[in-house]
Amino acid sequence: MTVSENLQVIISSLPAGVTLVAVSKLQPQSAIMEAYGAGHFDFGENYIQELRDKQLSLPSDIRWHFIGHLQSNKVKYIAPFVHLIHGVDSPKLFREIEKQGQKIGRCIDVLLQVHISEEDTKFGFSESELLDFIDQIKEHPLQFVRIKGLMGMASFTEREDQIRSEMKQLSSLYHQLGNQYGGKTFGQVLYPYLEMSILSMGMSGDYPLALEYGSNLIRVGSAIFGARPPKPSST
Ligand SMILES: *Cc1c(COP(=O)(O)O)cnc(C)c1O
Repeated sequence: MTVSENLQVIISSLPAGVTLVAVSKLQPQSAIMEAYGAGHFDFGENYIQELRDKQLSLPSDIRWHFIGHLQSNKVKYIAPFVHLIHGVDSPKLFREIEKQGQKIGRCIDVLLQVHISEEDTKFGFSESELLDFIDQIKEHPLQFVRIKGLMGMASFTEREDQIRSEMKQLSSLYHQLGNQYGGKTFGQVLYPYLEMSILSMGMSGDYPLALEYGSNLIRVGSAIFGARPPKPSST
């Protein structure tokens, strides 16, 4: 199957209101152009240098999602154009995004990453860290960063009950915060900064389950583009 056929199959299976981010990390620009030619505009990348190269040479109406682990000192490279940063996993990174947004006068949309998997290697706030962090930022109006929702990655396992319980946890946290803060404005802030309109959950292997738990943004790579080329040691 070609890239555009794969896209077609996945998109036609999605409920209304679900965004598909085509994860193009390590894939050649030609693969992105094939999807773009089929009318797809949302792409996800994990590596800063690769994203910068692609953004420079590919069409300017592509919406670039940064879905990898972002180091604070790299924020400045993507701040001018990134559509959504999915993996904000620390107050430090959050502050840096705010600072870079202020520098260029752009409000940057982000998701807070929650650690739901049982693996130590996946980044993110624990549930209690997240609630503490939200209590902190409530005190200060934010102008240059907007929290659109939450992102999480379930464990990479065959055990469906494990995946389900992790997804359920993230989904209830999302709805809890949405009920508490979603759509409300604070003080002089012009927009709700805890918008809670995006739940980014689900990849090639588990997105049908994620949809059951109310995900409205799925990040799918290999099911669209096929297996990824190996990661070069320099990225
Ligand atoms: C690579 C990656 C994906 C896509 O993975 P596939 O299994 O190829 O669909 C999704 N989300 C994140 C955060 C990733 O790093």
